[in-house]
Amino acid sequence: MYELESSRRLPVSVYDEVLEANEQYAASFGRKGELALPPARHFAILTCMDARLDPAKYAGLSEGDAHVIRNAGGRASDDAIRSLVISYKLLGTKEWFVIHHSNCGMEFCTDTDIRTLLAQSLETAELGADGFRDVGNGPGSAEANYVDWLTIADNAQSVVDDVARIRNHPLVPGRIAIYGFIYDVTTGRLVEVSEATKLGQPE
Ligand SMILES: [Zn+2]
Repeated sequence: MYELESSRRLPVSVYDEVLEANEQYAASFGRKGELALPPARHFAILTCMDARLDPAKYAGLSEGDAHVIRNAGGRASDDAIRSLVISYKLLGTKEWFVIHHSNCGMEFCTDTDIRTLLAQSLETAELGADGFRDVGNGPGSAEANYVDWLTIADNAQSVVDDVARIRNHPLVPGRIAIYGFIYDVTTGRLVEVSEATKLGQPE
């Protein structure tokens, strides 16, 4: 009871929308409760968290089909690789797609930019023609200096780098096929980065 009252004091429009949407989803859940834990189509996608990307739609996924691992940029961070290793070792995936995208926020700044913004304040920065600009009141924090933000200088190269890192990782077996793509946010199309897919070929 306390929980409910406490949460109701917050500005909750999105909160209410999400719970209402979930109510409808659960009402027509059907037999999805019987799905197996391992992905039925034996593949995984590593992609950006960008709100314009919907992997279920752009790659034709239904519940139970595939793993989707998302972070800022769709980068092959240590934690993304942790998930991919779980994905094959425990749950049997055999093919992985690394999918970055055009107009990614990670292209609009460098690690130094992010550190500078966060050193100034913890408010949301503004994105202008010249990149992100801090408009908030301090203090910020120097903790950002200790984070590798994995920003992107060249989109295609970042796909090549990430596929190469995964391919060469000692916990990733050579039999897994790894493909590299850039999703075009203006057309919805996946454009293959052939150099990346070539690097990701299975043994
Ligand atoms: Zn992005």
